[in-house]
Amino acid sequence: MTSSPSLPSSPTSYGHYIQGAFTESGDNPIERQSPAHGVPVSLYARGTAADAEQAIQAAKASFDSGDWVNTSGAERQAVLQKTANLIREHTSELGLIECLESGKPYQQSLDEMEWAAGVWDYASALCRHLHGDTSNSLGPDLFGMTLREPIGVCALITPWNFPLLIISQKLPFALAAGCSCVVKPSEFTSGTTLKLAAMLSEAGLPPGVCNVVTGHGDPVGSTFSTHPDVNMVSFTGSTAVGKAIMAAAAPTLKKVSLELGGKNPQLIFSDADLERSADAVCLGAWFNMGECCNSGSRVLVQEDIAEELVAKVLEKSQALKTGNPFDDVSVGAIINEAQYEKIQDFIRKGKAAGADLVLDGSGVEQGQGRFIAPTIFDKVPPDADIACDEIFGPVLSIVRFKDEAEALQIANSSWYGLSASVWTSNTDRALRCTRSLKAGTVWVNTFLDGAPELPFGGYKQSGLGRELGPEAVLEYTETKTVTMRIQKT
Ligand code: NAD
Repeated sequence: MTSSPSLPSSPTSYGHYIQGAFTESGDNPIERQSPAHGVPVSLYARGTAADAEQAIQAAKASFDSGDWVNTSGAERQAVLQKTANLIREHTSELGLIECLESGKPYQQSLDEMEWAAGVWDYASALCRHLHGDTSNSLGPDLFGMTLREPIGVCALITPWNFPLLIISQKLPFALAAGCSCVVKPSEFTSGTTLKLAAMLSEAGLPPGVCNVVTGHGDPVGSTFSTHPDVNMVSFTGSTAVGKAIMAAAAPTLKKVSLELGGKNPQLIFSDADLERSADAVCLGAWFNMGECCNSGSRVLVQEDIAEELVAKVLEKSQALKTGNPFDDVSVGAIINEAQYEKIQDFIRKGKAAGADLVLDGSGVEQGQGRFIAPTIFDKVPPDADIACDEIFGPVLSIVRFKDEAEALQIANSSWYGLSASVWTSNTDRALRCTRSLKAGTVWVNTFLDGAPELPFGGYKQSGLGRELGPEAVLEYTETKTVTMRIQKT
């Protein structure tokens, strides 16, 4: 059941969540204003290095106690499944928090809650499939086996664009492996992660196994990334911060898993279904205001159908509403002032690069909110900034190509490699392109489709490691090799 969303009369105040309980939010909290309404909606505790230290020690103590590590897969599964159920029971509440803090349309927030719950469902099943292997072909007197053991204390650091979904791509898998966690959500969107931690306690997770510290990257995230008692950092966010975290983790040789940015090409060939591909272009470019690592912000279209495709995309984009996320809109508000200015700057750069601005959404005025409507550049030079850099806003760059070889060359020229899609009715071409594209995910005649069963992650500077899929739990484990010598009778 969902109820109509409305603005809160006063902001919700949150403390950190450490050792199974909320702390006080303190007298200098971080105030979060709704980007769509300009009113305060949340107050988060401003985490210090001491708060991060306290959370790490709670996680370490819980790990060392064995309270969670020594539970059976079936017991862990029950906790994770109950958490999935709690997310579903609280969809309206969580969806409203996400909508208010991030500015995304309320309906998209509700959909995100259901995806997140589905990931917890899937991870709960994996709790009962964690096992090592045996080697019975080492000769008559040797026997070998491998054990998968939880890696220990994991730091999970997340961004603001899909707050509950992204923590759900990490936390249940770490918990399924038996790890204890310290979590740092984005300082813009911490509310649902804090609620999730409390739900885990309600579902039966022992105190200290999941701790959340709110606040800025420095000092909270940086303490997590450098601390000798943290065994692994799993980070989703910008490529620049990902590199900084990898460097910060090096002195203590932590395992690092990174899900970073993208500049994802959609290759549309002249034999493609134009109606469906135009719909996918709009979904890829405008979903979540384009604040999406998988945004299809770079459309590569074959020259002979370019005019027709651009006309369709333009018509569909003009029909979409931008504005108050409580209303029936497709595009909500931009997360913060810095991001808003960055997007406006890219629009100026696109104009300066000589691309055709066929739809200009840069001048939307909507009360106290911060909005940019769909913006489309056509005939973009492949080396222009708007065709190469991740904009993270509702700005689409359309690049035209002559043939398959040129399309692949442009697609792979990026230093990102998160995802790509191919639109064609020719199966051989689809397979050739799929093999050639340097990306962690390739969609054929679809876009943004997926399921928790399928691994997700980036090639090149889009990341390191994979989330989701059956191996996601293994990311949070160490392999222990056991070799046994067998005596002759
Ligand atoms: P960001 O890198 O600025 O911040 C991400 C998180 O890191 C935040 O919690 C932040 O407080 C923290 N942080 C910042 N500096 C830190 C430091 N020095 N040490 C430790 N932690 C630090 O990213 P953002 O602006 O929140 O999110 C947008 C970016 O995230 C985009 O580049 C986008 O592509 C990327 N992203 C990637 C994926 C993916 O799965 N590949 C998914 C969503 C977002």
